[in-house]
Amino acid sequence: MARIGFIGLGNMGAPMALNLVKAGHALTVFDLTPDRTGVLVAEGAVASETPQGVAEGAEAIITMLPAGREVRAVYGGTGGLIEVAPPGCLLIDCSTIDVTTAREMAAAAKEAGLSMLDAPVSGGVGGATAATLTFMVGGDEEAVERARPLLASMGRSIVRAGESGAGQAAKICNNLILGISMIGVAEAFVLAEKLGLSHQALFDIASTSSGQCWSLTSYCPVPGPVPTSPANRGYAPGFTAAMMLKDLELARGAADATGAHAELGALAAEFYRRYAARGGAPVDFSGIITMIRGS
Ligand code: NAD
Repeated sequence: MARIGFIGLGNMGAPMALNLVKAGHALTVFDLTPDRTGVLVAEGAVASETPQGVAEGAEAIITMLPAGREVRAVYGGTGGLIEVAPPGCLLIDCSTIDVTTAREMAAAAKEAGLSMLDAPVSGGVGGATAATLTFMVGGDEEAVERARPLLASMGRSIVRAGESGAGQAAKICNNLILGISMIGVAEAFVLAEKLGLSHQALFDIASTSSGQCWSLTSYCPVPGPVPTSPANRGYAPGFTAAMMLKDLELARGAADATGAHAELGALAAEFYRRYAARGGAPVDFSGIITMIRGS
């Protein structure tokens, strides 16, 4: 079993780190918000007071941070993980960030003699808790193979997307689909309400028809049909609308940079921007249905 450092113990990072502890790995953990380490320490992990502390003796360091800015802060510069990680330590960033930052961090790691992977995930908090995440991984094949047993303790599917940055490219495209599909499902439920169709009837029919998608069957935005979805607990996250907006902005930036057409993605971003401005930023992104309904 490996000595692993883990930084970023939020909605996703905490259950992911817990699964590594359950798999028997020795974990040292850090979060900017110190009380986030409590649940891990209770299960046998060691809390570090600094990000540098997680690097001591680590064979691998995993990060699950909000965005590219935090990833640069944790990995780059004086005292950053790339500087302080011991030789041979494998760096794995599971955050969803822009492709440019992922590539720059991997290149800086390589210069320092270290391997770094971008390994963003899909599956939400449910997948993180149940260790059924999908990892989309960018980086050297040899490093991906080294990471595979660790990632397998947190997920079910590990797909190498290509070289550095390819994991983030896949994630951004995936979330472009997700951001748009959630709005589509929400609009359908609101229309069904107006037409006098029950939530359960629409769910039963659409979930076995051509409207079927993850936003409907795993993350249904109305309470009832999928008991584990955030709609059943007042839209507590989960995956916040602020995070979805971040990802759609990443998609928009990538589309602009490459000349790809992603007009629905831009419109979806506008929806989440409006929702965030009305207080929805910390709410689960499926709460967008309340804005669409006008409730
Ligand atoms: P979160 O905000 O719940 O957690 C982020 C954690 O990072 C927090 O505990 C915060 O204190 C910590 N942090 C921030 N800056 C730090 C720093 N400089 N050093 C140490 N810790 C720091 O976010 P989350 O929902 O867990 O998402 C994390 C990443 O996973 C994001 O990139 C998100 O897009 C991605 N993601 C989230 C979901 C989801 O369903 N929540 C699903 C797939 C991917």
